[in-house]
Amino acid sequence: MNIDQSVALYKEAEEHIVGGVNSPSRAYKGVGGGTPIFMEKAEGAYFWDVDGNKYIDYLGAYGPIIAGHAHPHIAKAIAESAYNGVLYGTPTKLENRFAKMLKEAIPSMEKVRFVNSGTEAVMTTIRVARAYTNRTKVIKFSGCYHGHSDLVLVAAGSGPATLGTPDSAGIPKSIAQEVITVPFNDVESFREAIEVHGEDVAAVLVEPIVGNFGIVEPKPGFLQEVNDIAHDAGALVIYDEVITAFRFTYGSAQDLVGVEPDMTALGKIIGGGLPIGAYGGRVDIMEQVAPLGPAYQAGTMAGNPASIASGIACLEVLKEEGTYEKLDKLGAMLENGILDHARTYALPVKVNRLKGALTVYFTDTEIENYEQAEASNGDMFSRFFHLMLQEGINLAPSKFEAWFLTIAHTEEDIQETLKAVEKSFKTLAN
Ligand code: PLP
Repeated sequence: MNIDQSVALYKEAEEHIVGGVNSPSRAYKGVGGGTPIFMEKAEGAYFWDVDGNKYIDYLGAYGPIIAGHAHPHIAKAIAESAYNGVLYGTPTKLENRFAKMLKEAIPSMEKVRFVNSGTEAVMTTIRVARAYTNRTKVIKFSGCYHGHSDLVLVAAGSGPATLGTPDSAGIPKSIAQEVITVPFNDVESFREAIEVHGEDVAAVLVEPIVGNFGIVEPKPGFLQEVNDIAHDAGALVIYDEVITAFRFTYGSAQDLVGVEPDMTALGKIIGGGLPIGAYGGRVDIMEQVAPLGPAYQAGTMAGNPASIASGIACLEVLKEEGTYEKLDKLGAMLENGILDHARTYALPVKVNRLKGALTVYFTDTEIENYEQAEASNGDMFSRFFHLMLQEGINLAPSKFEAWFLTIAHTEEDIQETLKAVEKSFKTLAN
């Protein structure tokens, strides 16, 4: 495959843009390096790069593109909003409509506020929870990513009751010490953390179905116990549904797991590909937010007509009958094919899948938490990633990310992908 133009553009990008990319994982550091492919056009399930190569895309822009690239209904909504003025700085009718749509789909969000990213949404839920509880500490689960605000960019300590250490330079220790990290799917560690810090804990931050060390579902009863233990200690429960909302059903993961949080953060899919975030929750909690309450949060771009119109159009597409059945069917085809080929070439492969999202781990171990995902074979994944790219299959460049199917993918796309999987596995096995 000729990628000369990408090589040249990456060189140029490195001169002007820090690291040559505007988000670190795009630099392929997680897959042993290489030249990031510069894409030029995207339509449906496909990408075309600047050298004219075509790819089947499973990155889905890290999640938002569930309807496929350049979906006509969404594209039309965005184009119309461009001619109608993209930014007003005033309230609009569209915002009311979208807020109502979200509330109907996710009833625990009794009041909603739009922001510009998942990072902002999560960051603000924490501020509001702190304002509401008058406490400062937050418990999160190791390996779960909640955006890049200081507080949540904190890695695990050495034990369940240990305070966190910063995961990035530039985060004061004093901030990291407000975060306690415990393993996902481990009720006892969570209980211990609450026993030690309970009176100071404002909120527990949960990805109800994990998307950030691959797709990992909670064990039966785990989330209900987290809710009960947190509430008994007077802490709020925040669900980060930036990846999960509208991913597996028209609604939220809280619907699927049957547990209701106090607050929810959204992003990705609800913008149909344009920048957005939203948060919401119980009325008495949300009334902490300015202008009603003392917790300040604002945004020049928040609720801008383009993002809102795009989000409404995306949800309209997803609401059509058969959306999630189709994603599930394609996902099952992909999962079964990958596992069949792994068996043929005697490779240690596990696939975690829910509907149209799956993660391929090179391991013999079931993956239920971050530590197990971390222990899966990263070198093998890196080789697999590059082999698949050579075959025209664009995966996320990290062993921790999911493959995201869209409604634009076809059975033929899956068959073509599985041919590439077989070829890549054959090379890996030799
Ligand atoms: N929360 C989760 C679960 C995420 O996966 C992400 C991004 O990947 C975020 C929050 C941050 O969202 P954004 O990148 O829109 O700031």
